[in-house]
Amino acid sequence: MIDLHVHTSYSDGRLAPREVVAAALERDLSAIAITDHDVVSGLAEASAAAAGSHLEVVPGIEMTCAWEGHERRAVHILGYFIDPASRPLQAGLRHAQGLMERHVGAVLEEIRKVGGDLGRADLDRYRHRYAGGAALVLGMLERGVLKRTPPGTGMHLLRLAAAEPRAYTVAEAVELIHTAGGVASLAHPARLHRGQPLLGIDVLRPLVQTGLDAIEAWQWIPQGWGSRHYQQLAQQLGVLVSGGSDDHGKRTSDGRMRLGAQPVPRDVLEALRERAGALRRARSYRSR
Ligand SMILES: [Zn+2]
Ligand SMILES: [Zn+2]
Repeated sequence: MIDLHVHTSYSDGRLAPREVVAAALERDLSAIAITDHDVVSGLAEASAAAAGSHLEVVPGIEMTCAWEGHERRAVHILGYFIDPASRPLQAGLRHAQGLMERHVGAVLEEIRKVGGDLGRADLDRYRHRYAGGAALVLGMLERGVLKRTPPGTGMHLLRLAAAEPRAYTVAEAVELIHTAGGVASLAHPARLHRGQPLLGIDVLRPLVQTGLDAIEAWQWIPQGWGSRHYQQLAQQLGVLVSGGSDDHGKRTSDGRMRLGAQPVPRDVLEALRERAGALRRARSYRSR
């Protein structure tokens, strides 16, 4: 069993990379991909923790992208087999972090202007990556900011906080992943349109045409429901599939984790690996 979509405390997961590796070994998985949001900083710890075991840690990422033509909606793009030291990728991630820091600063300033009390330190507890829109909204709610600001300003502040800047389009993220030697997959297509888990081919085609190598067919829907639909779409679109649980380290009341709960076959990983190798060879041939 493999799981190609796993978060750690370096983004919004609850477990440190070494704890994720321990949980994967406990479940006897043969491979996991660490795919933290817009950071690669958890990869080294995960690889080190898995060294000498039978568990393969695939270096990955999940990039938060602007969805052209869909204002304010984000698309998540997974990268696999990336080189975390890739300079263009690192520059892109730094750019994203800088934009988000400015956004957070601007929203905190707006809050201060209307007499609210919320500081950067208050946001640190929500995200290990770096604070963004969700941390701002949680912070405002938990610190009672909205109750103490003048009537009518609360909604404005919440909207402002949620309007996160996007550092890359889908096409730009795919290009950064390819430049870093990886392959790109569309994360959880079942969540792109709320209340519409089974998307049609016409919705996915423009996204796939940005250069995606795969779509995530096994995604977090209990019992892998819907994976057949997305496998068929991938075949029709001529791309590969990926799959994973999108585990964030949370446990259900009966102590279960999502980790390893999607029935993703091992050959899915081998096909992605092959594709990454072919892309790298094509690139080095072109750059000669
Ligand atoms: Zn996601
Ligand atoms: Zn995710």
